[in-house]
Amino acid sequence: MNLSFDTDLIYGYKSKSQIVRRMTENWVLNNSYCPNCGDFPLIEFENNRPVADFYCKYCSEEFELKSKKGKLSTRVSDGAYKTMIERINSENNPNFFFLTYTKNWTVDNFLIVPKQFFTPEIILKRPPLPATAKRAGWVGCNIDISKVAEAGKVFLVKNSQIINPNEVHQSFQKTLFLRSKNEAAKGWILEVMNCVDSIKKDTFTLDDIYKFEHELKSKYPNNNYIKDKIRQQLQLLRDKGLIEFNGRGIYKKISNGKI
Ligand SMILES: [Zn+2]
Repeated sequence: MNLSFDTDLIYGYKSKSQIVRRMTENWVLNNSYCPNCGDFPLIEFENNRPVADFYCKYCSEEFELKSKKGKLSTRVSDGAYKTMIERINSENNPNFFFLTYTKNWTVDNFLIVPKQFFTPEIILKRPPLPATAKRAGWVGCNIDISKVAEAGKVFLVKNSQIINPNEVHQSFQKTLFLRSKNEAAKGWILEVMNCVDSIKKDTFTLDDIYKFEHELKSKYPNNNYIKDKIRQQLQLLRDKGLIEFNGRGIYKKISNGKI
């Protein structure tokens, strides 16, 4: 994997956004493998197909690319709000690649948020375009990455360092089980994943996570067994290799993409 963009591609394009689009897409084509199966290279969809930008010819996973200069921010702008929500609800949204690059045209971060982590909660509605705009009234959306659980941010490149592809593959595989869960079951797992992420320690106790009981109760007011639900999700996360039990009520996080 070469972290530099092919800057020869600048020639022939006038608009900055076209140049960036061309260079980042070209970089993905020449450098990215499929995080699901490892196949290389990815294939580009024909232009103007709204489905996604790339797919894997071996396992058929689809990927959309979003890129941004500078720091990895928590919000990334995307297309129409309504379309995005419809795609999430009908489960035909692609996986998202997020790429950040430096002023020297090199890749700083390149990560994938697998599609099973996309829920309506992480899609924020933007204000409608003003009456003076060409597309007056159009409503776009932002993707709020800060609401995505850590297990749903699989880095291929982190802070300009390339992550071992085997580790990327394992991290990607670990959460595929979420795709077979119904919305309610997945909702609980993602909630507890976020609670675990909010604990700022690598090891934690059951009491640490029970502190989120109130918060979860406000989201599930009809559930009177919140602690049981929490323990059930922790058990599942343990079985799937996302956390470890160290005995006597001590749990340990397992992180992705450690450098
Ligand atoms: Zn693949």
